[in-house]
Amino acid sequence: MAALTIALTGGIATGKTTVANRFAERGAAIIDADIVARELVARGQPALAEITAAFGREMLTQTGELDRRHMRERVLASDAERRRLEAILHPRVRSELLARAGGCTAPYCLLVIPLLAESQHAYDWVDRVLVVDLPRAEQLARLMQRDGMTAALAERSLTVQATREQRLALADDVIDNSGVAELLIDAVERLDRLYLTLSARKRKV
Ligand code: ATP
Repeated sequence: MAALTIALTGGIATGKTTVANRFAERGAAIIDADIVARELVARGQPALAEITAAFGREMLTQTGELDRRHMRERVLASDAERRRLEAILHPRVRSELLARAGGCTAPYCLLVIPLLAESQHAYDWVDRVLVVDLPRAEQLARLMQRDGMTAALAERSLTVQATREQRLALADDVIDNSGVAELLIDAVERLDRLYLTLSARKRKV
């Protein structure tokens, strides 16, 4: 296990990946729950078979991959179906994240966990929480621009997540991503130095 594990979280389209990329440029070890989830539903994986059994073969593309857009629209339309999908995916993602964090030997390991606030009890083994923060209106605008979503679907995507306040309540550190992306470089540099210091201190204990 890395000396220090940090969960990086934030609402949809607040800039988690953008921030994680800045950390990666500084040499940080990154484990991304979205990438893990994608690997877990790759063709031939047990989770994909479970999803197909639960939601039907119409959730697959012609080549047998998960049709992510279709799946997302379906679970956004129904709380029961969203919970059903989460029940298939989340336990697998959690145990895979724990296993990968266990194998991380870097000074600190940054785990990108979008739904941390929704399942915080499951991640009580992380040392610290970093929240990427953005006012709601800007979050909606970035989401619509990036994904070509309607305003209604973007609103719905935010409504099914924890609130900005719930996430900020968990934060040890916050990165405000409301400015231009270049401003992230300084914020990440400062935190990278802090995490390296905390990691070295923890190793000595
Ligand atoms: P998701 O929750 O979907 O995984 P995310 O939190 O990882 O998203 P990103 O994909 O990093 O968010 O960023 C969302 C969008 O906002 C992207 O199009 C990205 O290029 C843009 N973006 C990120 N930071 C900024 C910024 N400071 N200014 C303007 N646009 C930004």
